[in-house]
Amino acid sequence: MNSTLKAILATVFAMGLASTVSAEPPGKGGIFKPGTYKHADSQEEIQKLKKGYHYALVCMECKSVTVKEVGDEKDVEALCHEGGTLHCDSCKKKVTIKHSGPPGKGSTSKKITYVNEEGKECMFVVPVKD
Ligand SMILES: [Zn+2]
Repeated sequence: MNSTLKAILATVFAMGLASTVSAEPPGKGGIFKPGTYKHADSQEEIQKLKKGYHYALVCMECKSVTVKEVGDEKDVEALCHEGGTLHCDSCKKKVTIKHSGPPGKGSTSKKITYVNEEGKECMFVVPVKD
């Protein structure tokens, strides 16, 4: 698991380096730059994503990183809606959003994991900030 994560993060960093030499103009939320990007694992952290921000969906199933831009708050809601699903753009696998953590309605400190059909964590979200 840890070695898989390291391999994936290495890919993220490699993409960050690649983006600095591309002609892509900087987005509102920034582009990948060399540095460390930590995954958001709680509803609170995911809800910090605002319109125009970039985030990476990292799929452990196919070891891909898909960079997306937040269109509106519905996109953010879709990333943390309990029981909702996301699809990997690369391998098209379906992942289910699972909440865990302190009970109570409206709590934003719930941990969020993205699990596959076997209930195994298989995706995570990495916000890309300046
Ligand atoms: Zn995938």
